[in-house]
Order: sequence, then structure tokens, then C-alpha cells
Amino acid sequence: MSRLQLSSAAMLLLLTLTIFSSCRRDNDVIMEDENDTTTPTTTTSTTTKSFANVDQALWPYFQRFEEQAAQRGISINLNQLELTGDLEDLPGENVGGQCTWHSNNPNHITIDLPLFNDLSDLYREFIIFHELGHCVLNRDHREDSDQQGNCVSLMRSGLGACHDNYRNTTRTSYIDELFDPNDF
Ligand SMILES: [Zn+2]
Repeated sequence: MSRLQLSSAAMLLLLTLTIFSSCRRDNDVIMEDENDTTTPTTTTSTTTKSFANVDQALWPYFQRFEEQAAQRGISINLNQLELTGDLEDLPGENVGGQCTWHSNNPNHITIDLPLFNDLSDLYREFIIFHELGHCVLNRDHREDSDQQGNCVSLMRSGLGACHDNYRNTTRTSYIDELFDPNDF
């Protein structure tokens, strides 16, 4: 191989690496706890805010995410971040959502439409907050569990051993963990 060919091969490799490293797609699995009989306190979502290029069904949860961040002293303006979001039938069983990040495009969240329609308000919030955790807070997965085997984070992958325990009674501590800068 001539020196010229070698350098173009190196260039190609570098370019390939750049493309792959600047694109991240996260497939998230969600299993709703069938035994959770607690009545969601947040069944009716009032939205006062709109989000450009985001499916309207996601607006209440986007607004809640900003509100929950603000309650913890973190200022997040999702419109300013130009985050986009939609609902579509994602391939794969129990794949609840994806966060797609590319250096040339705004971060994009996709939530599985059939699953979204099946989920309670609380678990819709769960999957959307999880994806916003990736796309907005740049958080990776955290699979830690407590002594009862419950996941300690909304950022669990759904593929680990811990069990989701997102209920009205545990919601606040999960959201505290989500926005805790020490977890970023
Ligand atoms: Zn994830």
C-alpha cells in the first residue's frame, strides 16, 4: 500500500469513528409493574406550555420535567434546547423509547406509540423522564438496586436484574436521583 493510500485509509477510519462517536441511539425496555394498584395522582395533565417539533401528547411530561428540575434549582428550557420528540411504532418488544443524538441535528426522543397508549400516566412519565435523562441531562444507565432488589434509578436500562418500583410513594426520591448532579 502506498503512503497516499495508507493516509486515505486512515482518513476514512477517522471519519468513520467520528460519525459513530457522534451518534448515539438508546433502545429502552420498559415493563410496567402489574401489581401497582396505587391510583396515580397525576392522571389529568394540564399543559400550559407548548413545545415546538414535539408531539402534543408529550407536552405535559416535557412541562413536568422542566417543573421538577426547577423545584430542584435546575433551570431547563426544552424549547431552547430545540429538542424534538415524537410517538411511533418502534421495532422490538417492550422497547419503550429512544434518545437519538447527532452533532448535526437536535436531540430527538421517540416514544413507542402502542406502549404509550397502554401505559398509565405515571409510567408514561417514567419512560419520558428516562429519555430526557439521556438527551438533556446526558445521563448514562445506572443499574444499581437497593436491598429489596428495586432499581435505585429511573436510568436503569430495563435489561438488568433490578425491578422498577416507580409509584406515587417513591416518585419524589426517583426524581431527586434523576436530577442529582452527583449522578451525572
Ligand atoms: Zn436508556
